[in-house]
Amino acid sequence: MRIAMETAVYALSRSATRHISIAPEVDALYWGRRGETTMLLETFSSVGQAFRYARSSAKASGIRPLTSPAESLWVHWEKVASSLRPLLAGRSLLWDEVKELVRGMAEPMEDRELRAALQVMSLTGTAILVPGVEIPPAVSRWRCNRCGAGPEGLFRSRCRRCGRPCVSCDRCIVLGRSRACTPLFFFPAGGRNGEGRRSVDLRLPPLTEGQRWVSERCLEAVRSGERFFLTWAVTGSGKTEAVLPAVREVLGGGGRVLWVSPRRDVVEELAPRLQRAFPDTPVSVLHGETGWIRTISPLTVATAHQAWRFYRCFHLVVVDEGDAFPLEGDPQLRSGLARAMAEGGTTLWLTATPPADWRRRLMRRRMPGVILPVRHHGLPLPEPRLFRRWGLWFSLDRGRPLPPVTAFLDRVVSTGGQGLLFVPRVADVDRLLSWIKGRHPDRFGECRGMSGRDGGRKATLEELRKGKIRFLITTTVL
Ligand SMILES: [Zn+2]
Ligand SMILES: [Zn+2]
Repeated sequence: MRIAMETAVYALSRSATRHISIAPEVDALYWGRRGETTMLLETFSSVGQAFRYARSSAKASGIRPLTSPAESLWVHWEKVASSLRPLLAGRSLLWDEVKELVRGMAEPMEDRELRAALQVMSLTGTAILVPGVEIPPAVSRWRCNRCGAGPEGLFRSRCRRCGRPCVSCDRCIVLGRSRACTPLFFFPAGGRNGEGRRSVDLRLPPLTEGQRWVSERCLEAVRSGERFFLTWAVTGSGKTEAVLPAVREVLGGGGRVLWVSPRRDVVEELAPRLQRAFPDTPVSVLHGETGWIRTISPLTVATAHQAWRFYRCFHLVVVDEGDAFPLEGDPQLRSGLARAMAEGGTTLWLTATPPADWRRRLMRRRMPGVILPVRHHGLPLPEPRLFRRWGLWFSLDRGRPLPPVTAFLDRVVSTGGQGLLFVPRVADVDRLLSWIKGRHPDRFGECRGMSGRDGGRKATLEELRKGKIRFLITTTVL
């Protein structure tokens, strides 16, 4: 079934500027009240197409003036819009996500009415409408407006939404598909809550000297409005406790804090710890399986992907890599974190394994940050090694030898362990599987592929945990 988003492009009778609307009757009334006539130029089944047309000099096929509906409707739409504002402010949402979030409201709302309210918000500056995926005016490459992925993360296919060839994004698919034909809304958040400072109860165990040192540096960074501040501390050094005073500082000033961890299990472990530390502050937990949070709490703990759903909302973003695969290497996740941050906000980045150039810059004081000096317990931290292979996908598709992959498979088997093989896109799961089938038929039976679209994901993970699967090939969704 096609559920296209009808989008109109119009101009005002006295200007050539083209405007976009998902509810043109709202615009007709808005401009009619200002003595302007709204001239409808074209209607499209895709928001992306409407934007492209509006930015071009293409002629309009059938210009017609829109009649303005009854004045009283404006009051009604505005009322609906202001009832939505507290729910939507500070978020970045696709049309489907807006609908899902609004569905939980006391009074059900029809699509038509929701579109009208969103259009009121867009005319009055409390919502910004863009296509999910587009070619931005200053750039000639396609880009996903939700996650920032470029052409390498996007693909073109016939779309069941708009019924046309359409471009959609694979990078942020964990949150639902961002497409060229579907609108994406940014809802600017209001400022900090309330006026003046409030006292926030923080319960901390006594800090070590090292923790106190880090804690003071983080506080300074937040107070001076530093955009980015790195804390480099080895595992088990207590860096979580060390940054809590900085969190309290922001909460006390009426700001919101987003605490990001790379993995769901870390998020679930951390949330009760933070709630104990801040007994009088509501803490929200957000990851792939929690569903929506209706009110954005002063303190939100989330997986990194969830940051794509926020818009200039948090005055402090704490990124705790949890000593897992560094988020640092993922530009889409980083741009999501940057967009989730309110103007003048700070990112506190906690890591045990900073990339080499961060270390260098930190040592040379070219990057604001602090190193937590702590006793090391002997064992070195495992660090990933990089093997660069030219023509990797070419070799893979032709079943050519790939010694590092073979060595990895052999080593995992010889140690009796299990291995995860990550590939960039869903389609690559099968490519790698067929390579293994061709090169290592004896291993193939021990391999399983999994993608974000896989319905049996939970069952597969359960089998993995029980050791029934030796090698799991998957995208970074895991
Ligand atoms: Zn995307
Ligand atoms: Zn489409």
